[in-house]
Amino acid sequence: MRIAKDTLKFILEASKSSAPNEFAGMLSATGDVITDVVLVPGTESGEVSAVMQLFMLPNISTVGTVHSHPSGNRKPSTDDLELFDRKGSYHIIVGSPFNESSWTCYNNKGEEVRIEVVDYEFNEENENW
Ligand code: ZN
Repeated sequence: MRIAKDTLKFILEASKSSAPNEFAGMLSATGDVITDVVLVPGTESGEVSAVMQLFMLPNISTVGTVHSHPSGNRKPSTDDLELFDRKGSYHIIVGSPFNESSWTCYNNKGEEVRIEVVDYEFNEENENW
């Protein structure tokens, strides 16, 4: 699995502007590249509420989750591990200071996995004209 650089940048910026509240969303992929973040509406501050809102989303095709830990400690909490186990295979936690190395991806067992950051051309179809 890989992630588009612009998508990662969006996640980091959204998390930064949400702090000290949590940012949370679902990850959606095009092929094997994570390209979209489906925002979770009405997310409130606090670990539990941010995570719980994820279950209220309609049925959308997603590969995992993303949320922020404004504290900067990117270790998954017990609640996070439960979520990881239920919702997809790739779970990104970002933390302050929200720069390009302030994120970690976990699998559904809470083990760290490396995913590659790639340049992804979002307008590919249009440019073929
Ligand atoms: Zn968490």
